[in-house]
Amino acid sequence: MKILPEIKEMHDELTEWRHRIHQHPETAFEEYRTSDFVAEKLESFGIEVHRGLGKTGVVGTLTQGSGNRAIGLRADMDALDLQELNEFDHRSQIDGKMHGCGHDGHTVMLLGAAKHLAQSKNFDGTVRFIFQPAEENVAGGRVMIADGLFDMFPVDSVYGMHNMPGHQVGTFAVCKGPIMASADFFEARIIGNGGHGAFPHLATDPVVIASEIVLAWQNIVSRNVDPLQSAVVTVAQINGGHTGNVIPADVVLKGTTRAFDPQVQDMIESRMRQIAVGIAEAHGAKAEFTYDRRYAPTINTPDETDEAIAAAIELVGDAGVNKEVTPVMGAEDFSWMLKERPGCYIMIANGSGEGSCHVHNPNYDFNDEILPLGANYWVRLTERILTQDAN
Ligand SMILES: [Zn+2]
Ligand SMILES: [Zn+2]
Repeated sequence: MKILPEIKEMHDELTEWRHRIHQHPETAFEEYRTSDFVAEKLESFGIEVHRGLGKTGVVGTLTQGSGNRAIGLRADMDALDLQELNEFDHRSQIDGKMHGCGHDGHTVMLLGAAKHLAQSKNFDGTVRFIFQPAEENVAGGRVMIADGLFDMFPVDSVYGMHNMPGHQVGTFAVCKGPIMASADFFEARIIGNGGHGAFPHLATDPVVIASEIVLAWQNIVSRNVDPLQSAVVTVAQINGGHTGNVIPADVVLKGTTRAFDPQVQDMIESRMRQIAVGIAEAHGAKAEFTYDRRYAPTINTPDETDEAIAAAIELVGDAGVNKEVTPVMGAEDFSWMLKERPGCYIMIANGSGEGSCHVHNPNYDFNDEILPLGANYWVRLTERILTQDAN
């Protein structure tokens, strides 16, 4: 691994920052302490700080030279509602909350890059360091955009990075096009007519109707989606009734859908609604259907992905970069930033040794060994794109 000596020297400091953030995990839109820490560090590096986009979001701006090009580098700051089972000294001090997805590490890698770039100034243009809240569940990045992120802080392209457990330290993985899926959430309320369990002919049974809808929705994936495309329709909750001899008045179905192609996403929504309303009507009931597009598919644009690949190769060599990683049906709210600007979302390996476990596991921990590599990736990417030679 070719890591700059100045960044290697920061390793202990970065590790200390990471442990500090890990001990004090904060969840969606409550990243007060974390954003204070981030803002304080950025200011101490001489970087201009703006706070309050997406409630707790922080944007640092660093300009060098006379170039008018600008890039955005984004890290997420939020933790999970999860009880940590690790027993090391830097374990979570907050009951029921944990940095179980490594966003503590993401925050620190970007802070490390900010510190280095503010000192080395080996670029020409503007870097925006975007620290976003609430990546998990509620898409805080989207809220930052709605609050004016790219209007107030224009960028030509935007980049994100996530750690990837189960892969050897010193490797990266990325692909052009979709790398993660959309994640939409739906709710259908089937409104029938309740009654005695022994007299179904006097009722309109929403349980039977809901069951038919659940099965018919599965046909969307098997019969409506092009077999060469991918999609998931998962009904994750069925709620209705409260006792054994009463037909309830309504049943609620909730779940999630996934797709890589926005057209498939549109089709899933319209078919789900049509099926729910149609089947309910056919049985003399009613269906209310809501569909929430919470995470768009994360789609990497080709030129920006080439830059990301080139920066990673400079650090870990050609063999260390998987350039055609298989996309996954998980989702990421960096997708909303990629809908606004071209860019690339890359995975950095978190290690595959004994005891390494997947994100969202109560024994997970971000691997401090990769902090300098991640920070150096941001630095190389910035220096490549905002190269001084171009002017
Ligand atoms: Zn996560
Ligand atoms: Zn995550």
